[in-house]
Amino acid sequence: MNDILPEVSGTWRYLESVVRDIVQSYGYEEIRLPLLEYTELFQRSIGEVTDIVEKEMYTFLDRNGESLTLRPEATASVVRAGMTNGLLHNQRQKLWTSGPMFRYEKPQKGRYRQFYQFDVEALGYDGPDVDAELIIMSARMWRQLGISRIKLEINSLGAPESRARYREALVDYFNSVKSELDEDSMRRLGQNPLRILDSKNPDMQSVVEAAPVMLEYLDDASAEHFAGLKRLLDAAGIEYTVNPRLVRGLDYYSRTVFEWVTDALGSQGAVCSGGRYDGLVEKLGGRATPAIGWAMGIERFVALFEACGGKAPPSNADVYVAALGEGTRERAFALAEELRDAGLGVEMNLGAGSFKSQMKRADKSNAGYALILGEQELADGRIGLKPLRSNEGQESVPLEEIAATLKDRLNQ
Ligand code: ATP
Ligand code: MG
Repeated sequence: MNDILPEVSGTWRYLESVVRDIVQSYGYEEIRLPLLEYTELFQRSIGEVTDIVEKEMYTFLDRNGESLTLRPEATASVVRAGMTNGLLHNQRQKLWTSGPMFRYEKPQKGRYRQFYQFDVEALGYDGPDVDAELIIMSARMWRQLGISRIKLEINSLGAPESRARYREALVDYFNSVKSELDEDSMRRLGQNPLRILDSKNPDMQSVVEAAPVMLEYLDDASAEHFAGLKRLLDAAGIEYTVNPRLVRGLDYYSRTVFEWVTDALGSQGAVCSGGRYDGLVEKLGGRATPAIGWAMGIERFVALFEACGGKAPPSNADVYVAALGEGTRERAFALAEELRDAGLGVEMNLGAGSFKSQMKRADKSNAGYALILGEQELADGRIGLKPLRSNEGQESVPLEEIAATLKDRLNQ
């Protein structure tokens, strides 16, 4: 688990605000959710025989003896919130949320035990238009942020009936290569053979690659749905590859799944992943509701943005105000508020200090200008204006003109 320090939090805030503005502009609304849910919610939604539920959840009993879990992902919570608040009753919902998720994984670059996700969910939409919209929306984020080293992979997992037929084919295949399966996969063969395809064990890759693919078992309606998605992506000029081995690590997916992957971050290449989960609401006790969503890992997003040369715009104050000598501090405080009223960002020197030490702090603040109020200036009704990012000298400006002068300079 990491502390997000001031030296990087500006980039986080910038990226989060860009993404937030984009999804809001597509008509998605924010929902804020608890970090804790009943353990059962994740067991039932993500699936008992998945990495997350089998070995990654932070689960504990509360004082009442009830089993609670720190959320490992947001989709289950969004669905739960939709149901408990009656949001899915004859209504459709386009929602986004963001915040920390918790998984007891082996920590490494791009994989942490508390990590952050930005999450978008559309409930009550059967697509494929919304499937395309969610992808087009994420493509806009990359474009707007100058992120180029990213590729889209899509697949369809079909409807439950066709997946059941596929499951049989998989069981037959894996039984025929049983001696090559690792322990996890042997166990999954009986319980959840699809999960074997998601194995992260390098020794299993050749076995997985020779397995039959879902696309050959697709039902007609799912095939038409998938073709519809591809047509919309083509028309929007979004490039993609169909990856028939993309299955995703959670059980609730059906039909469309997709992943934005990068080669810029080493082995943790999945930046934004999502899919359709048409059966989940019903499985959790609600009325059958088609739905789809994606989640983006913020740490990987930040790392990718930086790897592509991205830099967040500065968010420091415009001006640093220094006060020197008797009786200047009160006037400097009032002036700082006047400048803030005029729309400027103002950092006030706090604590005493010589001219030199106050200028050192001014420099460190990253502000573009320092204002220096000394006893003589105050008596003359003037103030010193010193550019901090150029070699120009200090000048003296009448106090009543300083706001306008500064605004002028900052706009140049
Ligand atoms: P991976 O294949 O890398 O394990 P995943 O399939 O488990 O990813 P999801 O559950 O779909 O990932 O989560 C969506 C996104 O959250 C991922 O694409 C990734 O960017 C991010 N993510 C997932 N797990 C972690 C983690 N432990 N630390 C940091 N980011 C993560
Ligand atoms: Mg994972």
